Amino acid sequence: MSKDSNAQRMEKIVSLCKRRGFVFQSSEIYGGLNGFWDYGPMGVELKRNLKDFWWRRNVRERDDMVGMDGSIIMNRAVWKASGHEETFSDPMVDCLLTKVRFRADQVPPQSGTIFYFSGAKSSISSWTSDKAFSVLLKKGDNVERARKVARQFYAQSSPEGAATDLATVELLNERTEDATDTTKFNPENGAQLTEPRDFNLMFKSHAGPLESEDNKVYLRPETAQAIFVNFRNVLDTSRKKLPFGIAQVGKAFRNEINPRNYTFRSREFEQMEIEYFCRAEDGLALTDYWLEQRLKFYEDIGIPRAKIHVVDIPDGDRAFYSKKTYDLEYEFPFGISELEGIAYRTDYDLSAHIAASGKPLDYFDQEKNEKFVPHVVEPSAGVDRTTLALICEAFEEETVTDDNGKSEIRTVLHFHPRMAPVKVGIFPLLKNKPELVAKAREIVEQLRPHMMVQYDEVGAIGRRYRRQDEIGTPFCVTVDFDTIGENGPEKADTVTLRHRDSMQQERMSISGLKAWLLEQVN
Ligand code: ATP
Repeated sequence: MSKDSNAQRMEKIVSLCKRRGFVFQSSEIYGGLNGFWDYGPMGVELKRNLKDFWWRRNVRERDDMVGMDGSIIMNRAVWKASGHEETFSDPMVDCLLTKVRFRADQVPPQSGTIFYFSGAKSSISSWTSDKAFSVLLKKGDNVERARKVARQFYAQSSPEGAATDLATVELLNERTEDATDTTKFNPENGAQLTEPRDFNLMFKSHAGPLESEDNKVYLRPETAQAIFVNFRNVLDTSRKKLPFGIAQVGKAFRNEINPRNYTFRSREFEQMEIEYFCRAEDGLALTDYWLEQRLKFYEDIGIPRAKIHVVDIPDGDRAFYSKKTYDLEYEFPFGISELEGIAYRTDYDLSAHIAASGKPLDYFDQEKNEKFVPHVVEPSAGVDRTTLALICEAFEEETVTDDNGKSEIRTVLHFHPRMAPVKVGIFPLLKNKPELVAKAREIVEQLRPHMMVQYDEVGAIGRRYRRQDEIGTPFCVTVDFDTIGENGPEKADTVTLRHRDSMQQERMSISGLKAWLLEQVN
């Protein structure tokens, strides 16, 4: 797909998400807040289905896993020991003209001609500036553009009123130089960027009424540390033996420099993390084992393997303590980007907390009479990124032709029934026929304790199907005159079941409906 059609596709997805209640801008009525999103009635069901299935697969269906739910705010000592206070930062650069901030490693390489100026002066007053400044001019651009950006920079940094008229700003000592793949200029206006500075991504606050350094706390930037600091508690209370894992799902916060790509990079998000503790000699093999498990998981929620790119992070690019890291990336319309990281973190985390707390977070193997610090493999996935991947994967605009030969666009979300926010739509053929309505309501009540259902009696059946297609409901059930026995006893208590993807319809008995649906959605 071309870049443009990918951008269009993303726009359509964002618009559908708003229109159908999947995702809203946070605090929208006040203009929103960059990097924060709210999930509407459909979004929250989708996200919940994802988290529930992850929990089922990784905790309930396994003997070697337990769950926990740690607090978001923890003792600051945790983040000192883990290294986050010192090093959880991204390199940041600012545009010298507009002050817009970028993550230094995300500035795209650009080529062109750099215009250097040693300073500027006013042609009508005594004001001068000896600040050096440069602008990148892309090939084919008018040279006056570079000079205009430079004049704007000097005018803006002059004392008030000294150089408000750009025409009076004289640029000093212009010289040029060709550049290839430089990342030192703002891609939007060509203005020079500052040198990179480290920006710590942890949100800060204070616990208690005193805003002192002693009371400083952080909103957790990952859920994992709560697992490490509870290792002993969980070990002592769960009686698990190595290898075993602890799983957790919860909010994490990062003050991202450039939130972007819709919910993909947010400042508040949810993670689904596993710390799988093991003996050192098993670490590498278990990393490959978890890679396979996680790929299978994505397949089971409707994201095919072919759409996931596994990147084996090479030596030198991994965190210094990691002996193996895989990034799992998905083909989003805005580019191939990370969904999950699977890292073999050795004994780095537990050892760091042992050293800082002085507490025994080690493991005693009774059979072998050995005491050691376990190693750990960490599959760490993002709830919001996976939810977005599910929506992107499911979205389709199909051209369909009706019985009269008229074609129209059908917007449909092909969610796996397991993930679909609403599992079944239930319609009486006519809303003014009490027997039809009563029967449809009866089916709703029968199914409601077991799955999310939606009752709809408004408009023509075809319109109601389209509404369910747009939110990805895999099945629709219509109660008609056959159902209530008006066309003979053999068809009584049967309904029309319509399949979202094929749009095929079949007749099914009401008594078999629940069991059949449960099989599809589990
Ligand atoms: P990135 O390189 O994209 O910033 P990361 O490698 O720092 O991500 P991890 O620290 O490995 O991410 O976090 C594990 C997972 O948490 C990611 O794979 C992603 O799914 C999710 N995640 C991390 N940061 C964000 C964010 N800002 N918004 C949404 N999800 C995030």
